[in-house]
Amino acid sequence: MAGTKTRVLILGGGFGGLYAALQFEKRRDPRLEVTVVNRENFFLFTPMLHEIAASDLDLTNIVNPVRKMLRHVNFFCGDVDKIDIQGKRVTVSHGFDRHSHDLEYDHLVLALGAVTNFFNLPGVAERALTMKSLGDAIQLRNRLIAHLEEADTECAQTARPALLTFVVAGGGFAGVETIASINDFLRDALPFYPNLKEEMLRIVVVHPGEFILPELGEKLGRYADKKLRERGVEIYAKAKVAAVRPNEIELSTGERISSSTLIWTAGVSPNPILDLVACGKERGRIKVNANLEVEGVLGLWALGDCALVPDSATGGFCPPTAQHASREGKVLAQNIMADVYGRPKRPFSFKTLGLLAAIGRRTGVARILGVNFSGFLAWFLWRGIYWSKLPRMEKKVRVAIDWALDVFFSKDFVQYLDQRALAHTQTETGAAPWNRDQISDTTKRNNAITA
Ligand SMILES: Cc1cc2nc3c(=O)[nH]c(=O)nc-3n(C[C@H](O)[C@H](O)[C@H](O)COP(=O)(O)OP(=O)(O)OC[C@H]3O[C@@H](n4cnc5c(N)ncnc54)[C@H](O)[C@@H]3O)c2cc1C
Repeated sequence: MAGTKTRVLILGGGFGGLYAALQFEKRRDPRLEVTVVNRENFFLFTPMLHEIAASDLDLTNIVNPVRKMLRHVNFFCGDVDKIDIQGKRVTVSHGFDRHSHDLEYDHLVLALGAVTNFFNLPGVAERALTMKSLGDAIQLRNRLIAHLEEADTECAQTARPALLTFVVAGGGFAGVETIASINDFLRDALPFYPNLKEEMLRIVVVHPGEFILPELGEKLGRYADKKLRERGVEIYAKAKVAAVRPNEIELSTGERISSSTLIWTAGVSPNPILDLVACGKERGRIKVNANLEVEGVLGLWALGDCALVPDSATGGFCPPTAQHASREGKVLAQNIMADVYGRPKRPFSFKTLGLLAAIGRRTGVARILGVNFSGFLAWFLWRGIYWSKLPRMEKKVRVAIDWALDVFFSKDFVQYLDQRALAHTQTETGAAPWNRDQISDTTKRNNAITA
């Protein structure tokens, strides 16, 4: 790296890190050398993740290659392994052999987000699916389809209840949008499976509160609850998942649900790699001041889900949302530039504009600037607002086309397979004997998942 330039290293290319990088990209300041490190080479637009799981959108339409978004900021696709605050150095590994590089910095931005928290509940970490990454959504979609295929066979009659019961833990935004969209997906696919009937399907949400979507208040929460129940979703309120065993989910109420699919959206914790950073934290999240600086550590900044950002509007802390992280990113980048040029920094201040959730069958719930919306209008607002926020015109067009096609065609339930085609050895002296172990990887993997 050039000696005279101020080196800014951004760890994480999600809403916080990427929007900070975009601000540097806009300024193209010759005095700065900015690098983003991210595990994946793409930026994931999480608000539309459930649409991938439910086949509303093509698999890659809600992700953007970071390199198409950043032309002047450097990008390093790799894993952050070590953060040395004293030595101002970060160790990153990448490549097929996972070799390491040390990246030095003058300013370090921590934007590593949060990870799923299983709370050490028996069987949950081993058996639950999660809903946080693109891979999670693809895996869930594949699982739904694999279970329909398996349950439709005559020999699976006794296994059908567990195969056709899908349980989501958590009635917050991610849980409700996931359950609503997979409910639509499964019910749309069912007519193509002659041995399966609608009454065989069980779609269940387990939620600790009295009503789902508590962030939107009781009125909208109860509306969403009613709509989902009308569409066949079972809601277990005031309950938590206590343990998961093969083909059985036990609740805190003592009830047992015969199911081999649990989708866990019931908790997150800060990225554990932050344990390596010696600075002020609260429940694992990094404490920053209103300028998004970590006090007492020169050149260290944090934002997004991994940080505890003071909220000037409420006197508390900012909620972990994309709308906050992206705006924090912009202010943080401006404050680093202010620091470099010796100008005054600007405190972060933002009031949540609105909260929206899609609850299936072209209905939604939303609270925007304090006004409640529900039904088709809320769903339309959800689509319109998130579509406008999705980065890059190319992806906007692809998503719009997918949504338009959705009006004319039923949902696509082809499996997404990533394994090599079956191969066999045949020479001039003859073929090698057929080996049953050559059955496809997919069959093996699906068997392993439900075992
Ligand atoms: C299913 C779902 C739906 C959501 N819907 C909404 C919504 O509708 N509206 C809303 O406002 N918010 C929503 N959110 C919340 C929103 O996504 C988060 O608040 C936001 O992503 C936080 O941004 P961040 O930059 O802090 O973290 P992230 O966006 O999670 O980014 C962290 C980045 O760091 C990378 N990373 C982590 N560890 C390493 C490592 N060791 N090495 C390299 N890279 C690493 C990750 O790969 C990731 O790219 C949703 C979240 C989920 C999961």
